[in-house]
Amino acid sequence: MLTPSRLKLTRLRRAMTLTDLARTSQIPLRTLSAYENGEHSPKPDMVRRLAEILEVTPAFLEREEIEFIDPDAVSFRKLSKTTARLRDSALAAGRFAIEIADWNDDNFRLPKPDLPTLDKHDPDTAARILRERWGLGEQPISNVVHLVEAHGVRVFSVASDCRDIDAFSFYRDGVPFIFLNVGVSGERQRFDCAHELGHLLLHMESDRAHGRDKEIEANRFAAALLMPERGVIAQGLREATLEGIIAAKRYWMVSAMAMTHRLHEMRLISDWNYRNTCVALSSLGYRNGEPDGVNGERSQVLSKIVRALREDGVGPEAICKDLGLTLDELNRHIFGLAPHAVRGGGQRSPRQGVLQMVQ
Ligand SMILES: [Zn+2]
Repeated sequence: MLTPSRLKLTRLRRAMTLTDLARTSQIPLRTLSAYENGEHSPKPDMVRRLAEILEVTPAFLEREEIEFIDPDAVSFRKLSKTTARLRDSALAAGRFAIEIADWNDDNFRLPKPDLPTLDKHDPDTAARILRERWGLGEQPISNVVHLVEAHGVRVFSVASDCRDIDAFSFYRDGVPFIFLNVGVSGERQRFDCAHELGHLLLHMESDRAHGRDKEIEANRFAAALLMPERGVIAQGLREATLEGIIAAKRYWMVSAMAMTHRLHEMRLISDWNYRNTCVALSSLGYRNGEPDGVNGERSQVLSKIVRALREDGVGPEAICKDLGLTLDELNRHIFGLAPHAVRGGGQRSPRQGVLQMVQ
């Protein structure tokens, strides 16, 4: 039996309208519409045809009903530039990732979410409190993805066919999710991850993101978390030179622009110095990239799971088999964050508790 919500979710995932799907499948629009509304159920050969076009297995379309993610509860960063169809595809991809995350939870022992609620604080205070609670001192954060994962955040890649969508985040049943666009510099990816953590900590689900003030707060939180006030002051960066700023940005592993902005925000450099530095950095290529930058961070959870499944002889296709996904689809969600999932062979079931997370 076809599950109507799964047909619709998968169609949105492939960024297809009902008309697109009707054209590709040569199934009349009215019939397809009836399938999606649950008014009519297709025969097995029809389900197979739809599954093939939508790049999932028939089993995926026949599993239990699936709830959609509420777009209002998601922190989309560049909503204005985002077409509705691409956003729907990224959100549907997010729903696929939830299925993968649930599978991971069923099969491995993962860190329990323990993010505090800091919505009563301004972003700077919230970042300071979090650094204290998580014992980060005034040191650079060596790996932001590993840090949030150790506190129970599930990190996935913005599906690799939705690269025009920026990072986003949401809570689902008390579990925080962050989706990172890995097609950016390592510094930008770290900042994005801290920015999304800011949304999760500061903004209530009901009014998650959507709005310039929320974006400014999340940016301010990310800057204060990655470049803590006392640590930056201790570096003696008052009226820093270009060389001093570049050395500092390497130390904190942030973009040169973010470092400059932070120093200006903290009133350590003058407006004049700030403007001149921005112009100089642009001419050195720091506006659109990060010369000699850091590598993008990987997910400890996803990497360990892929490795553990391979070592256990079941391979990542254990996930695909249970969920009805193709390996290609699985790879789109872990792209850049974990080793590419390849066919690993074997028929065994994964052992419970194979995975022990360390920070
Ligand atoms: Zn945002």
